[in-house]
Amino acid sequence: MTVSDTSHHQDDTTQTTTTRSGQLSEDEWKQRLSPAEYQVLRQAATERPFTGEYWDDFSEGIYRCRACGAELFRSDQKFDAHCGWPSFFAPLAEDRVEYRKDTSLGMTRIEVLCAQCQSHLGHVFEGEGFNTPTDLRYCMNSISLEKVPRSDR
Ligand SMILES: [Zn+2]
Repeated sequence: MTVSDTSHHQDDTTQTTTTRSGQLSEDEWKQRLSPAEYQVLRQAATERPFTGEYWDDFSEGIYRCRACGAELFRSDQKFDAHCGWPSFFAPLAEDRVEYRKDTSLGMTRIEVLCAQCQSHLGHVFEGEGFNTPTDLRYCMNSISLEKVPRSDR
């Protein structure tokens, strides 16, 4: 896991941040996403625990980025962390996500972003002692994800 050291800024003047080619502007994101989705995916808000769609869903499927559709996590990488958010011990592939050091709220955390569209997904925590292959907990927002059930594939 490679963590870049640019801290995350939550401001509305994101027009100054460089958008990679083919990416949507913040205005376009605002139109495409619901207000709640926009707040989490583009402004790095966190949904309230135990409120999202997927924290207690353990059926088979693939979790895609709700903003761009990239496949990010698999249900067999999901585990029950009792934290109120969908938790995974690994992404579907390491190149599907990007990491950024996040020092907001007086904590140092590792933010997890979609590698394809740089939308906020959640944070990853290490060494919490969960009985998983990686001892990592990708603590994601349900609203950042969209599950495609196994039977639909
Ligand atoms: Zn995405």
